[in-house]
Amino acid sequence: MHQIEPHVRAVAGVHSPATAVTDFSAICEHLAAELRRAGSAVLLNAEVTNIRQHLGRVQLETTVGQYHFDRLIVCAGLFSDKVAAMVGASPDPRILPFRGEYWTLAPQRQQLVKSMIYPVPDPAFPFLGVHFTKGVYGDVHVGPNAVPALAREGYSWSKISVADTWESLRWPGVAPLVKKYWRTGATEIAASVLKPLYLRAARAYIPSLTMGDLQAKGPAGVRAQAWSKDGSLLDDFAIDSVGPVTLIRNAPSPAATSALAIAEYVTQQYFH
Ligand SMILES: Cc1cc2nc3c(=O)[nH]c(=O)nc-3n(C[C@H](O)[C@H](O)[C@H](O)COP(=O)(O)OP(=O)(O)OC[C@H]3O[C@@H](n4cnc5c(N)ncnc54)[C@H](O)[C@@H]3O)c2cc1C
Repeated sequence: MHQIEPHVRAVAGVHSPATAVTDFSAICEHLAAELRRAGSAVLLNAEVTNIRQHLGRVQLETTVGQYHFDRLIVCAGLFSDKVAAMVGASPDPRILPFRGEYWTLAPQRQQLVKSMIYPVPDPAFPFLGVHFTKGVYGDVHVGPNAVPALAREGYSWSKISVADTWESLRWPGVAPLVKKYWRTGATEIAASVLKPLYLRAARAYIPSLTMGDLQAKGPAGVRAQAWSKDGSLLDDFAIDSVGPVTLIRNAPSPAATSALAIAEYVTQQYFH
């Protein structure tokens, strides 16, 4: 560990030499280009507003027109429960949005992180906790944390949806969730608004970090966390079928890394 990540303080480390970081937008653009070359259409900025089933076929109503399919696979992330409702699937699990915020490491301190520094996952929690990732362009992100988002697409504290928040508060899983995670939740929220607390979490791994090393809060992501009626947060994939429609209702990290393997699994399990 001292040779590979000399600035890290830890009891022990596991080295994973095959772990890599990538530019995922570039991967998506390549996948879209391959699909188009193979004759498929890729529609962007097209919201699915309703799904009807008729005589074993699926009719998709979107903001850019109607489409008909024999089979449909739904991967709607933060809206996967809303789209599941369109086909009459069970309302359980529903989606609880959790924002993951990052700080960016000051350029002159990027050498503190050689590659990726991750904590050992705690099976009691669905999220890893703050970690360090060196991006493909040399930039280092510190995070993400996990705070409840006040809107499905709540990429900052100021983005609030009363309807989304009210829907979450009315879900039967709210009381058991709060009972189980209130302490962790309060710590995460405090570290989100108070930079010294975020720094303290980061310094657990790299003690030489200072306040000035964490620069401008970087981009944030919102996790689509599936949440059961009994208050549990699902940490495995949740896949349902309603007639010819297959719904991917929970695809937690590392579902981006494993996207092609998941696609293979879904087509084998649900299309034969
Ligand atoms: C902060 C953060 C860090 C992460 N880090 C990693 C990582 O390091 N490695 C990793 O493998 N994974 C990571 N993940 C997880 C990864 O992003 C998800 O597992 C993955 O994106 C899930 O894929 P998906 O297709 O189910 O949903 P999404 O990627 O969310 O895609 C759903 C799509 O459906 C669209 N949509 C929704 N509703 C509609 C509608 N009605 N009509 C039309 N379109 C609709 C949305 O706009 C979206 O484009 C991270 C996630 C977050 C939030």
